[in-house]
Amino acid sequence: MRIEEGVLLSRFTTLGTGGPARAFAAPESLEELEEALRFARERDLQTATIGLGSNLLVADEGFDGLVLKLAGELAQAEVEGERLVAGGGAPNAVCLHRARAAGLGGFEFACAIPGTAGGGVWMNAGAYGGDWAGILARALVVDGAGAEWRTPEGLGLRYRHSELRHGHVVARVEFRLTPRPAEEIKATVATMQAQRKAAQPTNKRTYGSVFKNPAHELSAGRMLEACGLKGHRIGGAQISPRHANFIENADGARSADAIALMAEARRRASEQFGVELEHEVEFLGPLELPPLR
Ligand SMILES: Cc1cc2nc3c(=O)[nH]c(=O)nc-3n(C[C@H](O)[C@H](O)[C@H](O)COP(=O)(O)OP(=O)(O)OC[C@H]3O[C@@H](n4cnc5c(N)ncnc54)[C@H](O)[C@@H]3O)c2cc1C
Repeated sequence: MRIEEGVLLSRFTTLGTGGPARAFAAPESLEELEEALRFARERDLQTATIGLGSNLLVADEGFDGLVLKLAGELAQAEVEGERLVAGGGAPNAVCLHRARAAGLGGFEFACAIPGTAGGGVWMNAGAYGGDWAGILARALVVDGAGAEWRTPEGLGLRYRHSELRHGHVVARVEFRLTPRPAEEIKATVATMQAQRKAAQPTNKRTYGSVFKNPAHELSAGRMLEACGLKGHRIGGAQISPRHANFIENADGARSADAIALMAEARRRASEQFGVELEHEVEFLGPLELPPLR
């Protein structure tokens, strides 16, 4: 396994922004993953794992540590009985394909989530009333101290949240699915995907929902729309004219542009609705939102 320096992380984020990683490795097995973690420990480097970068804003300055991108057997998925066993880096699309081919249902909701099995554990990804917590049997979490299988309770999964921290790597994931005819799975997926296409900017570079939905009658998207933010632009980033809880890379955006838009959105939601929006997108590197007061 090669450990490279200065790899640009914009290559690995769906928004297409982000600076270099001090070190970068793509381990293909548990042994290689342990080797990479040892490398980081010996040099006192922080580590972070990147999935498909679909919920990630990486600082323009980059990340001063080791970035891991799981590959090889850590990015594959297969069916064992009624379980779908996936590497943490396995794309959801591959997991869904395997489940459907084996006539196993339960993972359909993830057709709209363009990430990985491990990235879904990190923030208990969900859509259409389903989420990781509902189908996860257990996940193998590896860190500098060793490896441990954890259940959804042990991971502290709740709405778009887990207790995992950078340095924890979700190396394997086991989902508990239920038999369902492949044709029915296909039909459900087609309906969900059509609904997505009608409501969200699925053909643009975004990182999914910017803010978590607040405890309020309006969703974050409706609230920001009411603040007149649809289409609002700063630098190369703009609030989607289609759905106000998405930020698009309209033209050569930098992460700083996205942060400036998020700060403006929070300011207006606070002024108009008295609500403090909390970001759903994860930050990597030196990024933070200014305080509201
Ligand atoms: C168009 C679009 C629609 C979306 N719709 C939804 C939706 O409906 N519901 C939803 O929940 N999300 C949605 N998202 C957001 C995103 O797809 C999910 O959050 C997804 O689970 C992120 O997975 P990822 O592999 O891309 O993680 P990344 O974005 O690469 O990383 C996200 C976080 O997880 C950590 N991480 C990733 N992999 C691992 C691992 N193996 N081990 C440890 N930590 C890891 C990263 O360090 C980071 O902190 C959408 C995104 C887009 C672009």
